[in-house]
Amino acid sequence: MGKSPNDLGASYSRIDLNDQNRILRLLANPGGEEARQVLADADRLRSRTVGDKVHLRGLIEFSNYCRNNCLYCGLRRGNRKVARYRMTPEEIIAAAEHGASLGYRTVVLQSGEDPAYTAETIAAVIRDIKGLGLVVTLSIGEREPWEYELWRKAGAERYLMRHETADPALYQRLHPGQSLEQRVALLKILKQLDYQVGTGFMVGLPGQDSRTLYADLELALALNAEMVGIGPFIPHPDTPLGREAGGTVELTCLMVALTRLALPYALIPATTALGSIDPFGREAALQAGANVVMPNLTPRKYRPDYQIYPNKICLGEEAADCRGCISKRIESLGRRVADDPGHNLLWLQRRVGSPVAGS
Ligand code: SF4
Repeated sequence: MGKSPNDLGASYSRIDLNDQNRILRLLANPGGEEARQVLADADRLRSRTVGDKVHLRGLIEFSNYCRNNCLYCGLRRGNRKVARYRMTPEEIIAAAEHGASLGYRTVVLQSGEDPAYTAETIAAVIRDIKGLGLVVTLSIGEREPWEYELWRKAGAERYLMRHETADPALYQRLHPGQSLEQRVALLKILKQLDYQVGTGFMVGLPGQDSRTLYADLELALALNAEMVGIGPFIPHPDTPLGREAGGTVELTCLMVALTRLALPYALIPATTALGSIDPFGREAALQAGANVVMPNLTPRKYRPDYQIYPNKICLGEEAADCRGCISKRIESLGRRVADDPGHNLLWLQRRVGSPVAGS
């Protein structure tokens, strides 16, 4: 594994991130004493680099149509049990307005890969939301490079597109018709376009082992990702992987911690998937290096139909309740909700040339 941007992680970690054999042994025992020390190291490093504030991103899941057929996903095109919906641009902007009124500084526009939304439609939505003073993160999958460029020019500043697994053969099995090579090429294009780029992966996928997880870390580091989302695999009964075992909180949190040590300034969410397999899963991630939470801003009538994995939490809550609930959870850890836009500090530094905390 190469060096961290400023190698701070190495000085905080009691284990050498380049010592692959040691990391593999660690991953084989995620509940052990050494793993607990790694979580504590990552938590201290997080406090030093990105501070104690937690950034909230309001998630708007605006379409559950998807042209892809990912084996693990409840929204895959082959799942005929899903009631499909598309929000209109006006509905998306109204949800963003509601988010702004609740104090959110960022909205994440997420959907399946749905070509029904033209590049121009998305660009117009971005411009309107920017007019509300919000940061726009896109999470809408693989599109043409010129479209990414158009949206960047329209004002979108972040793009989330997880690589899901760094094993090319497993990637191909899980994503029929797609390739890891293509995914990584698009992530690099997004970097060139000066987006803050988010990748990430699932923990506990069938066919994954500790070596795959080490490769996931290496890939996130090679991309110098500004954001890394890590969630447990949760089997969805209406998919081909419905009978497989799911990932665990322990191993997922250990991967969050190792990611923090590898990328000291990354924005790392405590994923909703973790909160869905354990009532305190998000708190556990926040104490293992995470510094972002993504409460749901999708209108309540659509939420039950957006389930990439089953038993997702907060399907019935109003957006205001979600925000209140998550704020209390954050404060219970002695942390506080950030009121700034929550950009990646290294990305900001590249733009304005100012030094970052802890470097
Ligand atoms: S994971 Fe994303 S791209 Fe794959 S089927 Fe689900 S919504 Fe579509």
